[in-house]
Amino acid sequence: MTTLNIYFDRLSHNLNFLRSKISPKSELIAVVKANAYGHGAIEIAKCLEGLGVRKLAVASAYEGKILRKNGIKCNIIVFYPYTSDLSKIIKFSLEPAIFSKRMWVDLTSELKKLELTNFPVHLKFNTGLYRIGFDAKEIGWIKEQLTNSSFKIKSVYSHLSSSEEKRKNNFTDSQIKKFETIKSLFLNIDNSIKFHLLNSSGIFNYPECNYDWVRAGISLYGYANNIEWDKNLLPVAELTTKILQIHKLEKNQLVGYNSGWIAKKKTTIAVIPLGHADGIGRYFGNSNAPVWIKNKKAEIIGNICMDMFMVDITNINCVEGDEVVIFNKKKPANTFAESGGSISYELLTSMGSRVIRNYF
Ligand SMILES: *Cc1c(COP(=O)(O)O)cnc(C)c1O
Repeated sequence: MTTLNIYFDRLSHNLNFLRSKISPKSELIAVVKANAYGHGAIEIAKCLEGLGVRKLAVASAYEGKILRKNGIKCNIIVFYPYTSDLSKIIKFSLEPAIFSKRMWVDLTSELKKLELTNFPVHLKFNTGLYRIGFDAKEIGWIKEQLTNSSFKIKSVYSHLSSSEEKRKNNFTDSQIKKFETIKSLFLNIDNSIKFHLLNSSGIFNYPECNYDWVRAGISLYGYANNIEWDKNLLPVAELTTKILQIHKLEKNQLVGYNSGWIAKKKTTIAVIPLGHADGIGRYFGNSNAPVWIKNKKAEIIGNICMDMFMVDITNINCVEGDEVVIFNKKKPANTFAESGGSISYELLTSMGSRVIRNYF
């Protein structure tokens, strides 16, 4: 009944568009973490591999393992590994990011024990986001380690905090400047190292900062955090369901848990079989977030339940079993997400495992 329809031709369109935006010399890393932003990591990775993508990125070693077990051959970068994941990383030929001295030292001692050398890694630098990363000041220390290192540094990268914000943004400019300095220091060390800085919004907003690779996540799935940029992309997923039941209410009747909503007049409501467990968070409750029935707005009323929510359909001529659109090509997921104070990333990655994915 509730289905997430996923269209490979739109993924292909987005990939081609992003490739056309970056310099022909740059390569696109397709980010398929978080179950490919809810779209199904295995299916999406297979499709991307078929479209010629050679590099994928995931958040955890576990996500990488799932891809390998399903036959994915691409290089797989793990953005947020633990040292304790090393055996998995080795077994499944994953490429970890290293982002601290502690991690460098721990991985080195494990690799020495195993007598492994030339182990492919990517170095992550903090240039202002203060999430994870080495500090530029630690490059001297890194250089010292390289005389007897177990690693092959494949790339050096950082992440922007505000890539979607309007230019000129002084903070972003300062991050780019820091990254330029880091890059120049590494080029002195080894000129085969690749550099990358941009996520989806960055690809649109800072085309001069392509460097060697870019890391595209949300834009592959059709969103880029800006209405103008979104026009070039197609939403890959559509979430629809069907009306489970309709009730006619008198004035003052109460709807949902904790009597979250009261009918101010005679009202017709529909029960929609989607709830927290499917990715429709509590913050959508009483939000007036619209879903679409017969191409008309039906606003969410009362508190979201685990498996259901209710909408006001007083002005819509519909019956039980009629289709309900949460988001599709014309009603994008970010609009629905934002109406509940959320964002496309959160909505898409929250889609529960019981939401059936159909691939076309
Ligand atoms: C998730 C992630 C990305 C992708 O970001 P989008 O905004 O979805 O394109 C890029 N780089 C890193 C380090 C990430 O963790």
